Amino acid sequence: MTKLCDFRTEKIREAGATSQAAHEQWKAAKAARIHIKGLLEQMAPGRVRCMYCLDNQGTDIDHFEPKARTPLRTFCWDNHVLACSYCNSNVKRDLFPCDPATGACLLIDPTVDDPADHLKLLLKSGELKWRTSKGRRSIEVFGLNRPMLRQGRADACGVFISEIVRWHDQVRLGKVEAATRTAVRLRQSGFPDVLRTLEGVAGTPLASVLEDRYFPEALAAWVAIPNCQRVIPSMRAGHTVTLSAGS
Ligand SMILES: [Zn+2]
Repeated sequence: MTKLCDFRTEKIREAGATSQAAHEQWKAAKAARIHIKGLLEQMAPGRVRCMYCLDNQGTDIDHFEPKARTPLRTFCWDNHVLACSYCNSNVKRDLFPCDPATGACLLIDPTVDDPADHLKLLLKSGELKWRTSKGRRSIEVFGLNRPMLRQGRADACGVFISEIVRWHDQVRLGKVEAATRTAVRLRQSGFPDVLRTLEGVAGTPLASVLEDRYFPEALAAWVAIPNCQRVIPSMRAGHTVTLSAGS
């Protein structure tokens, strides 16, 4: 596949490295597109979620740095992001703001950056606040505070709290398979950023003010064991129960 991508890049170069050449080669490279999309789907969060909004299904290959801007990066692996059609075609489009002084991109690159370094999620409202200029421009360009996403994050927060409490009950009762199913459901849900933020409040006063009075204890148990032991039913199931029960 690397050779095929190199071949296509060479074709773009031979045609003058124009935006049109990049577009034509990308459109013609069906095999490469299928392969790239398959790899991106394996890396996407949850049930193949969009890497920008973390909500909708990822259906499109987006060129993080637009083809029109850098035609020779059309087939670069690290320039491909799995996005939903809405984020790709209606929101980000060909936007790619850069720092005028340094030339550095002012968008969070999901393949490189940790969004938590640039954004802070308010659990109750679902709103994202920016920590850095990169976070600020990303909220604008990706439309990360559009009402559907804010409401979706707030709703997801309530669901995650209930599901973590349910998981903890199942673990304490020794219902290993049920607990594993709950854990899988949690891991495959949209808005993994909400779950990650919730995990970050474990052991802090904020865990106590969230709706469910059983949540702080359940959350402490949830974060105390490695991810893989929460979701793989066959992995030392009995041992996992002992570890997870926390008592
Ligand atoms: Zn999206």
